Amino acid sequence: MATMKAARLHKIGGPMIVEDLPIPEPRPTDVLVRVKACGIVPNLGNVLAKWQTWFPELPLPNLPAIFGLDAAGTIEQPGSLVQHFKRGDRVYVNPGLACGSCPSCRANDPLNCRNYTFKGYFGFGPEAQKLFDAYPYGGLCELMTAPQQNLVRLPDNVTFEQAARFGYLGTAFAALKKANAGPGRSVIVNGGTGTLGLGAVLIALGRGVPRVFITGRNRALLERVKALSSARIEILEIGKGTIAERVRAATDGVGADILIDCLGPGSPAATMIDAIYALRRGAKAVNCGGMGEKVAMDVHWMMDEQIEFIGSNWFSPGDGQDLAEMARSGTLDLSVFEHRVTRLVQVNDALADIPNRNGGFTNIVVTP
Ligand SMILES: [Zn+2]
Repeated sequence: MATMKAARLHKIGGPMIVEDLPIPEPRPTDVLVRVKACGIVPNLGNVLAKWQTWFPELPLPNLPAIFGLDAAGTIEQPGSLVQHFKRGDRVYVNPGLACGSCPSCRANDPLNCRNYTFKGYFGFGPEAQKLFDAYPYGGLCELMTAPQQNLVRLPDNVTFEQAARFGYLGTAFAALKKANAGPGRSVIVNGGTGTLGLGAVLIALGRGVPRVFITGRNRALLERVKALSSARIEILEIGKGTIAERVRAATDGVGADILIDCLGPGSPAATMIDAIYALRRGAKAVNCGGMGEKVAMDVHWMMDEQIEFIGSNWFSPGDGQDLAEMARSGTLDLSVFEHRVTRLVQVNDALADIPNRNGGFTNIVVTP
């Protein structure tokens, strides 16, 4: 039997073990993808070590399991019913799986599938294991199956290493789209120097947002993000006065139009609350960062001010294709990322490298 290399986690807190596994056969509407790069998102370390404690309602796959959220590669073998992709096509695999038969799926709203599950990561419902069983291949292996509808076609000018960043970029893209971010709007990116936040800044610029406020703790990183577009980006260093006061001072007392909150698990709720108070009447706050602390919100004030608070996670393959088109046309600049590439056999080194990132600029990638 033909085999491939795959990294599997056998127990929580243990290392990944690189093993030889049978090469899967794609079902008729699936494709077999030869992985060229898999992104190591910062939260993967949390998922592998702490997820069951932090968020017991978000199940991991049964172990041993192949993790890895963001895979990009070439199509090795299209299933017999696949019409629009062929062997050799370059793709990003959106890992979001939907059941196909719940009311949301049948209403063409698979992101709100009650069993929505990220292959190679975690699921959102008690039936997630059914989808893990159907697609047991995260990106930390040589060959993976994926549903054809999950594919994003990559332009020639997007490298596999850049495409391995599409997960968080797509998450930021969907959040900005929900907030209708564009010309004439001001946007606060809370946590604007991290992996998600930097993506939100790049996409906000690409969508024509004229004014982007970024918050962060590291002055040097904030300055580096500002240098991407110094006339449009304004720095709000955390700990140097409230976000609300400074944004209001900069907007004639009015406040910002949009908040994209990219604060991750472990961030303080007070920073999100501060940023919400920086919003104008009628503004939208989109939370896509995954902060875990409970937030005591002044819902009366938010009602008075007609402020919408939107939870948003992940993005559709269609959004991913729009993202790819932004990169193809140059409205999204992916050249800012510094790729740290590790071979699959050294995957544990890549995981250990997560805390040593240079903010969102570092892109940790595993390649077979
Ligand atoms: Zn469903």
